[in-house]
Amino acid sequence: MDLNTLYRTVIMDNYKNPKNKGLKKTDDYHFVHLNNPSCGDEMNVEIKIEDGIIKDVRQDGHGCSISMSSASVMSDVLIGKTVDEAKKIILDFYGIVTGIDPSDEEALGEAIAYMGVRQFPARVKCATLAWKAIERAIDEVMESGK
Ligand code: ZN
Repeated sequence: MDLNTLYRTVIMDNYKNPKNKGLKKTDDYHFVHLNNPSCGDEMNVEIKIEDGIIKDVRQDGHGCSISMSSASVMSDVLIGKTVDEAKKIILDFYGIVTGIDPSDEEALGEAIAYMGVRQFPARVKCATLAWKAIERAIDEVMESGK
């Protein structure tokens, strides 16, 4: 499967059947909202971290197929990872969408498909929105010392 086919397949699969969709709104989850004015994407994420491990990620929002599918893939890839592993994956994701090779391609899982975004620089903000939101959520939880 070439990159463009993989890219389109991952976007459509995760847009139609989003993973970990819907917020819990309970005290054990930390919530972050971000938006992308250039496209009108609205992103809500929640994260549950215990003992430095990401136990759960929830995502909800509305917007284009790239931003919504990317949130689904992000949640699936990060659940079960340690905070340190997740931060490395997030940085690798920011790299691949702008044309930088990842430090650990295997850890990115399905997210590697978003390498296809590098051909469409205007959509980079769509692809990274959920990842920016979860990065902020992780930082806020770690700063709070919970
Ligand atoms: Zn968008």
